[in-house]
Amino acid sequence: MRVNIDEIKEAGLRRSWDVTREQVDEMVAGERAGYRARGPAHVEAKLDKIERRVRIDGHAKAELSAACGRCLGPISIDVPVDFEVTLVPSNEYGDEARDAKDSNTGPTAGSFALDQAEEDTYSGKVIELDPILREQLLLALPGYPVCGEGCKGLCPVCGANLNDRECGCDRHVPDPRWAGLKNVKL
Ligand SMILES: [Zn+2]
Ligand SMILES: [Zn+2]
Repeated sequence: MRVNIDEIKEAGLRRSWDVTREQVDEMVAGERAGYRARGPAHVEAKLDKIERRVRIDGHAKAELSAACGRCLGPISIDVPVDFEVTLVPSNEYGDEARDAKDSNTGPTAGSFALDQAEEDTYSGKVIELDPILREQLLLALPGYPVCGEGCKGLCPVCGANLNDRECGCDRHVPDPRWAGLKNVKL
């Protein structure tokens, strides 16, 4: 996914791309939760140029599979990736970063727009969107996906999937503070 900044006219530029399943797979490879792509992703972006800065408003949806963090069962999740990134020419970035730092120290810092907007750099005339999408996708991934809020997980004693059956193991860890309550039925 590449855009030549000369293609971005005053009204902005709308582009869309299809990212193959293999490419999505590569983007999420190595993630702790073991994400895999279930299919290709469609990416839409609007690019606006303000002097030499380029603002990208991007949207995509990644269809992924992963292992439930509690029971390790397979789950399918669709992760929306919505982002806004401002790109600054790399030769001007030093000044930009300093300005941003200064303005963040004041009591008026932290407006919604400032916090949401992420800054990156580009060099030359071609913007390469793959690394941006990858970064935003990784940020959007749930760190601890579960198959459902009610997932009971695995028995720590025998490893049985407690969603399927109650194995009957004694998983009770005695805590003296609760001794007086042990006969209370909840
Ligand atoms: Zn689960
Ligand atoms: Zn068990």
